[in-house]
Amino acid sequence: MELAYYSDYAVRLVNTEQPERGGDSLTSVEAVRELFGAAQQAARRATESDVTRLRAVRSRLRAVFEAADRGDEVLAVDLLNALMMEFPVSPQISGHEFRDGENRPKWHMHIADHAANATAGFTATACMGLAFHLTELGVDRLGICEAKPCRNAYLDTSTNRSRRYCSDRCATRANVAAYRARKRRESTRTAESAQDATARGER
Ligand SMILES: [Zn+2]
Ligand SMILES: [Zn+2]
Repeated sequence: MELAYYSDYAVRLVNTEQPERGGDSLTSVEAVRELFGAAQQAARRATESDVTRLRAVRSRLRAVFEAADRGDEVLAVDLLNALMMEFPVSPQISGHEFRDGENRPKWHMHIADHAANATAGFTATACMGLAFHLTELGVDRLGICEAKPCRNAYLDTSTNRSRRYCSDRCATRANVAAYRARKRRESTRTAESAQDATARGER
């Protein structure tokens, strides 16, 4: 569904910040425009002020993902509802693109063309998408990557709700770390039992 697709807006915005690493890529109008992806018409409205505005929204959206990740469904919903109240949608059917080989417009929904500024439009769209995702698939589909220090947000669209990492890269990193930790424990145990054997005079 197109509306659920917009939930990626929320993920994209939240992940412009790496809180544990102190990283932030949302530092310019260009970075703001990139967040809009293919919606370049909406992106053109962005100004320097949207960097600050979107950073404020970002913290609030992260709080939604973190509450969901902790299993606090009511808080996640309350926080998202508050955002939707503040950044309302103004749905319009748009036909600015044409069907291939036809002269008929490709009718589709625009969520917030008449928002006060680029941030308001982006946020309304992101929250609407996230709300659809949450109600269709469940609050537990919103998560925070478990591969520390990564704290990226993700949406679990797997059939068996098995996702725990934001990316394949983080999944691999976590697996390697777990493997090394297991090896370390094993070699400590081997060394300890060797020492015990020595202490008992078995060597
Ligand atoms: Zn359009
Ligand atoms: Zn990650």
